[in-house]
Amino acid sequence: MSEDVDLPESHPRYESLLTRHRIEAGVDRGITSRQGLIAQGRGEAFDYLLGERTIDSADDAERAAAAHLLSADHAVVSVNGNAAALVPGELVELAEVTGADLEVNLFNRTEERIEAIADYLREHGATDVKGLTADGRIPGLDHERAKVDADGIGAADVVLVPLEDGDRAEALGEMGKTELVIDLNPRSRSAEVATVPIIDNIIRAIPNITEHARDLRGDPDAQQDAIDTFDADSALTDAERTIREGDLE
Ligand code: ATP
Repeated sequence: MSEDVDLPESHPRYESLLTRHRIEAGVDRGITSRQGLIAQGRGEAFDYLLGERTIDSADDAERAAAAHLLSADHAVVSVNGNAAALVPGELVELAEVTGADLEVNLFNRTEERIEAIADYLREHGATDVKGLTADGRIPGLDHERAKVDADGIGAADVVLVPLEDGDRAEALGEMGKTELVIDLNPRSRSAEVATVPIIDNIIRAIPNITEHARDLRGDPDAQQDAIDTFDADSALTDAERTIREGDLE
């Protein structure tokens, strides 16, 4: 990635420093909000305690998420400022492999930021980016927070929301949507209300969901099995136990 600084890969905190740099560059480009810097810091602390790895229950969640995206009537991958800064090309690839739409969906919504993110996704190969029309509303939220595209998240049966705010995650769930949430905090409301909580760093989660989707594509039985065998409560409990026990490798 052109914005990436020259960090020695041997540095013990290489990935975390790279992540920080991408978020910082995202703020400079007008993609990520300053609140996004704080969110990143919160996430990093949980990731450190998880051992900066994808635990088995998160891998199961990523497989279930891939299955939901593939078997949906209309799946949407929601993109906020942190997700765009961290994994733009990986989000475009996931949408391509699963047939999902990409929709820019911001908590601190400004037209400039929506445009900047849509442009950034296009630079990374996206052809159709939703979120600019904002002609739909999520019931139960104030005006700005409620805006979505009517033919995007508004009409979707399955939505992947990385790093979503708790209120909006709850409201989307109340609309009857199947919610796939990526959040490193297993106690966040977003993770707790999700059909599939993915307790993993978005940097690892998105490429792994894509890999599972490649594997599950064209196999409805395997997709159903991945969905049926996933248990959200035990995945949350497992992640919390791992964090609390600090089983660092
Ligand atoms: P909630 O309203 O859901 O309870 P919150 O207000 O605690 O959430 P914020 O600080 O708004 O949460 O959002 C940041 C969330 O995103 C945190 O839970 C943090 O752990 C998570 N997060 C931050 N960076 C990443 C990342 N790279 N990958 C996955 N999750 C992340």
